[in-house]
Amino acid sequence: MRKKIVAGNWKMNMTFDEGQKLTSEIVNMYKDENVKDVVAILNPPFPHIFPVKKLIGGVEGISLGAQNCSDKEAGAFTGEVSAKIIASFGVEYVILGHSERREYFQEDNEILATKVKEALANGLKPIFCCGESLDIRTAGTHEPNVKFQLTQSLFDLSPEDFSKITIAYEPIWAIGTGKTATADQAQEMHAALRRHIASHYGKEIADNTSILYGGSCNPKNAQEIFSKPDVDGGLIGGASLKSRDFVDIIKSF
Ligand code: 13P
Repeated sequence: MRKKIVAGNWKMNMTFDEGQKLTSEIVNMYKDENVKDVVAILNPPFPHIFPVKKLIGGVEGISLGAQNCSDKEAGAFTGEVSAKIIASFGVEYVILGHSERREYFQEDNEILATKVKEALANGLKPIFCCGESLDIRTAGTHEPNVKFQLTQSLFDLSPEDFSKITIAYEPIWAIGTGKTATADQAQEMHAALRRHIASHYGKEIADNTSILYGGSCNPKNAQEIFSKPDVDGGLIGGASLKSRDFVDIIKSF
């Protein structure tokens, strides 16, 4: 059985105090409201990692992720943070290939393949993001485009390593725009990606891979999107910065 996952991507938001408040509220709601069977992953900016880890410490079902890691192992790379350092702080997941990293930091499929391997070699589980621009969607080539992102960055992995990957499908035109993909559009792409994974790794691995939807997901639309058979949860940006909204999205299953 594949996992249901709701991951919050804080992006470059939240001061120390704000992050502590948000995390405490989420932890309390998670406990008080007896949330079950869904893994919640908080992905704060790097400086929050250790204090957030302390706050979520013993709560079953809440995990911690980073938003990026270096493609380099170690050494003189000022400002970079390696997978090894991240893992040593007890972090379980790392988001890789977010469209903002692809667009603003020129991360291509090749460098992402290296980052994925670096993350896995250090015991981190990648949440690998893929998704098409509006131009590509309008041209109708979104399916081959997104499949290609997976092929290029992931399909060199051994079946054992691939089994540690979570996929996040985030159409770029839906990120931060308030314009979500319809539940049917999400389902169509998720099913296509699952078939693509099956064609390379077999049905069992494909059936066990969690595929999350991301892009203007909120408490109002999450239920319909999550009800689709190939949607296993969400990667949430803006709405993950409000505890009530984030926990309501988690409870939308
Ligand atoms: P929004 O939920 O703000 O659209 O962001 C989605 C996203 O990019 C999550 O990684």
